[in-house]
Amino acid sequence: RKTVWKLSTGSKELDNILDGGLESQSVTEFAGMFGSGKTQIMHQACVNLQCEDRIIADDSIKDEILEKPLKAVYIDTEGTFRPERIMQMAEALGIDGKDVLDNTFVARAYNSDMQMLFAEKIEDLIKEGHNIKLVVVDSLTSTFRNEYTGRGKLAERQQKLGRHMATLNKLADLYNCVVIVTNQVAARPDAFFGSSEQAIGGHIVGHAATFRIFLRKAKGDKRVAKLYDSPHLPDAEAMFRITEKGIHD
Ligand code: ATP
Ligand code: MG
Repeated sequence: RKTVWKLSTGSKELDNILDGGLESQSVTEFAGMFGSGKTQIMHQACVNLQCEDRIIADDSIKDEILEKPLKAVYIDTEGTFRPERIMQMAEALGIDGKDVLDNTFVARAYNSDMQMLFAEKIEDLIKEGHNIKLVVVDSLTSTFRNEYTGRGKLAERQQKLGRHMATLNKLADLYNCVVIVTNQVAARPDAFFGSSEQAIGGHIVGHAATFRIFLRKAKGDKRVAKLYDSPHLPDAEAMFRITEKGIHD
């Protein structure tokens, strides 16, 4: 087993409840209602990947990771990837947004088959020599939710989603990648925590994602992130902000 490393979210508080940041060799799920900041966190992660001081790793593994330019794959199922937002976040950190965009492969998936195929193709990119260390799926669940409606399709949906999660977990494991996914929930947080079926994917995602974070809006630009059901970290909450600069404390 390779040594895990971590990618900062941009918020110290949020990094702290994750024991340092987004962990490699794991899938981390961000769930929350519309506007809770899931897509913003995904964008910030792509920017942070190009910031050496936002990569938290032991010296030996850091050298190995940084051997070649770091690259991300962003599977966008909702058409919400915004290059301008990447530029804005990069500028706030004093790095060149063009470098971030050059090192981020954006794949627009219009349906779940495309989404699954893109995830499966990432391994080919790595074998071609691309140093892919971050994989984003935004959103993990929307295509499945749209295509497999009704009780009769539930089993098939869960089975496909399970296969997709297995692909992502394998990538994370084999290539020491950080994998982050989003999951929109319609319900209020209390309903969400009361029933695992409230979040589409239910226990399939629950068991396949190592870290699960629920985001909710607070006052103004503030957001609350709650880590829950982690195998080795305590449930905990963090407060962060979303401003023109991006994600920060
Ligand atoms: P959905 O479930 O609809 O996809 P989401 O959780 O992905 O929602 P985001 O798109 O990440 O939500 O968050 C949108 C919010 O982020 C906006 O309402 C705004 O508060 C904030 N935001 C987005 N862009 C900026 C910006 N350039 N400057 C400041 N705040 C911004
Ligand atoms: Mg979004």
